Amino acid sequence: MNIVCLDMEGVLVPEIWIAFAAESGIPELKRTTRDEPDYDKLMHWRLGVLREHGLGLREIQSTIANIDPLPGAKEFLDELRTLTQVVILSDTFEEFAKPLMAKLGWPTLLCNALEAAPDGTITGFHMRCERSKLTTVKALQSMGYDTIAAGDSYNDLDMIRASKAGFLFRSTEQIKQDHPELPAYDTFADLLEAIRRAL
Ligand SMILES: [Mg+2]
Repeated sequence: MNIVCLDMEGVLVPEIWIAFAAESGIPELKRTTRDEPDYDKLMHWRLGVLREHGLGLREIQSTIANIDPLPGAKEFLDELRTLTQVVILSDTFEEFAKPLMAKLGWPTLLCNALEAAPDGTITGFHMRCERSKLTTVKALQSMGYDTIAAGDSYNDLDMIRASKAGFLFRSTEQIKQDHPELPAYDTFADLLEAIRRAL
């Protein structure tokens, strides 16, 4: 029994905060974990910036609604879901991902959640568990599934290595160079073919 675990940002959809910074006209939101390695600190800072700009959940979701999945992502996902089970594992938040999931035909997404007041003001966030991608892959394996994983970034390496088959997809030159043992693909057609062979 197989299940494919896919990273979301950089694989199926653009990096949400970078696209959101452009779409909302708030360039400082481009700051990532490369600039602030403490994720908790970074998220609190981002939520502060959103509050300063008077952006609540409704405004954020309508901005994100203008962001599209990567070209070919929906077709890839549709085809893959006819072959096997698929779950998207992401460090994002359900509320941010929702408009993008609508455009992808509502695939299963396991990620984190925001806390919001009744008026839509974001008051905090809730991370599902530690090292969520690896933890989830291991949990699926404990249920009798063989996992096949693909992702583009450092936080995907654990789940890629822990899986029966694992692939880098649209990754950086640096990560590909540092991990020559991991097959790397840049098109959905090649990734789909690699997953087909691993099934
Ligand atoms: Mg990613």
